[in-house]
Amino acid sequence: MPQPPIYLDHAATTPVRPEVLEAMLPYFSAKFGNASSTHRWGREARAATDAARERIAACLGAEPDEICLTSGGTEADNLAVLGGWRVQQGLGRPGIVTTPIEHKAVLASAHQAAREGGEERLIAVDASGVINLDSARRHIRDDVAVVSVMWVNNETGVIQPVAELAAMAKAAGAVFHTDAVQAFGKLPVDARSIPFDFLSVSGHKFGAPKSIGAVYVRRGTALAPLFFGGTQDRGRRPGTENVPMAVALATAMELALTEREATCARLRALRDRLQASLLACVPGLVVHGCAPERVPHMLHLSVPGTDSESMLMALDLQGVAASSGSACQSGSVTPSQVLSAMGVAEDLASAAVRMSLGSLTTGEQIDRVVAVFPDVVRSARAMAGSFG
Ligand SMILES: *Cc1c(COP(=O)(O)O)cnc(C)c1O
Repeated sequence: MPQPPIYLDHAATTPVRPEVLEAMLPYFSAKFGNASSTHRWGREARAATDAARERIAACLGAEPDEICLTSGGTEADNLAVLGGWRVQQGLGRPGIVTTPIEHKAVLASAHQAAREGGEERLIAVDASGVINLDSARRHIRDDVAVVSVMWVNNETGVIQPVAELAAMAKAAGAVFHTDAVQAFGKLPVDARSIPFDFLSVSGHKFGAPKSIGAVYVRRGTALAPLFFGGTQDRGRRPGTENVPMAVALATAMELALTEREATCARLRALRDRLQASLLACVPGLVVHGCAPERVPHMLHLSVPGTDSESMLMALDLQGVAASSGSACQSGSVTPSQVLSAMGVAEDLASAAVRMSLGSLTTGEQIDRVVAVFPDVVRSARAMAGSFG
């Protein structure tokens, strides 16, 4: 009898949690009002979004007026990086400092700033996958508008030194943004403990639907909006509020926080077992970014003599869903920019496979992945040979 498939791609997206779905459903039909209307339907919708905003703020250690709801992590990153830069550069600060390991949403926003006259600078990355603080110090000068460095890398899971970077940015008079999309629910994410100006999260990475996210905007930090047309969200993000999605995000965030420590302990044990077993059964297997601090649910590896596509295909034939790293890059043959920045040789970088564990992952699944892995490597090597 065929075994049920195994989903090891929780860093790409997660299923909507039943509690989240249940909480949001009434706001599609029975409670469908427009939060800007003054009648009872509108007041009901306003009360629901206000309450959701308060809960989201509480989950981030922020105030409700510091939360701007967006269509997801990508928009949150665009709003912070480009919206923040546009304000600052008007004050004579053209610099925008980021890293080569950011999500495309940040990198492309920085490129857009460069097209508008910005000076883009990239901080160097060490072989371990951690950005280099000396390089950061050289780049973060007093002509810099925005510094944007992710909290947790979405390919390796490596945790970045955001506290040190935020302090450097502040000392230079720049605003600091962190993409916390892969950090929320795994690390304690508190907007007050570190002087963040902007911090992005995305709901679908922890049990809310796709296309809802938020950016924390510190009180007093200015932001140029990307959209125009209304006064919603203090004009920072106009458009009729998405009430069900706001409720969903608040519910998913609270659940993720309540369960964070137990989830992390469970996933760390499973990930460490998976890593140790794969290292033991495949000679030469390389784990990327395993030396420094890493979130507990991610494993990014390369098997010499294979390539990512062959590995993913061979895993898929065994019922295992993994990724080459960033979802946006799968299907393309360019090796990961993250691994290239870490100085990983091209043949290994082009063989990268990311396994990310989550709510669906069980110990029995981990054992099955370990059991089929030698066969996966054999077929991937055969495929890689036939393509090469
Ligand atoms: C998924 C992801 C994003 C994009 O979020 P969406 O909600 O899918 O637009 C941004 N940054 C990181 C690190 C991510 O993993």
